Amino acid sequence: MTTARKPSSRTRRPKVTAQDVLEYMGPEYGPVEWHSRYTPAEELVYTILSQHTSDLNSGRAFNNLMKTFGTIEGVADASAEDIEEAIRRGGLARQKAPRIKQVLAQIRDEIGGFDLSFLAEMPLEEAKAWLKRLNGIGPKTAAIILCFSLGMPAMPVDTHIYRVSQRLGLIGPKVNAEKAHDILEPMVAPEDVFPFHMYLIRHGRQVCKAQRPRCGECLMGWGCPTKPKMERAAVADARKKAKRKPAAKKRKAS
Ligand code: SF4
Repeated sequence: MTTARKPSSRTRRPKVTAQDVLEYMGPEYGPVEWHSRYTPAEELVYTILSQHTSDLNSGRAFNNLMKTFGTIEGVADASAEDIEEAIRRGGLARQKAPRIKQVLAQIRDEIGGFDLSFLAEMPLEEAKAWLKRLNGIGPKTAAIILCFSLGMPAMPVDTHIYRVSQRLGLIGPKVNAEKAHDILEPMVAPEDVFPFHMYLIRHGRQVCKAQRPRCGECLMGWGCPTKPKMERAAVADARKKAKRKPAAKKRKAS
């Protein structure tokens, strides 16, 4: 069983490391299994569709897109208007359709098709650089394609991972999401990148939520530098609510 480390006499809280995340969250959220769900080109299209929308909506839009055109080649051959129609239920279809059309055209121009499996043979940094040259592909999309489709040790940093790793002090308060990829990825061994990614996402969804983190139940509370601040905010919030209640009761009575 994992036991909490004691604070040293010099610092009131021990610093949480990436290794601690693996050790503490592994028994809680693991084991995680990797399996490829889409080809790299499909993953790319799915990732564009998932921007600024829910998983449910992007999944629906992607399924409808593939049902309408059959293959990624079919999507690439379709007009931007027809793509827009097929992905309408995913939201922001007018912006996303031309982006999909454009990036697929760029890939076909460069490699004569859509088989991006050659990226798995490249060193990680070269594979990332290849993808990031494509229009509209940033570090997050590149990491998603390499990690989820090809099983490479790339670390996609989504909103949960960014928030949790900042709260835990793994990255500094001024580090932006793009830079966070480069800082977090080398913190763990290549074979641990995927579980590290999954644990932080699960922790962010279930415990370290954006609005009301459940610090009292958190298994990283022993070292989280943000916990005292969050607890003070929760107490202040509870006091405010308690003050509002009698006033509301009075209004009801009158
Ligand atoms: S102690 Fe609170 S702020 Fe820190 S990681 Fe846990 S839930 Fe998040």
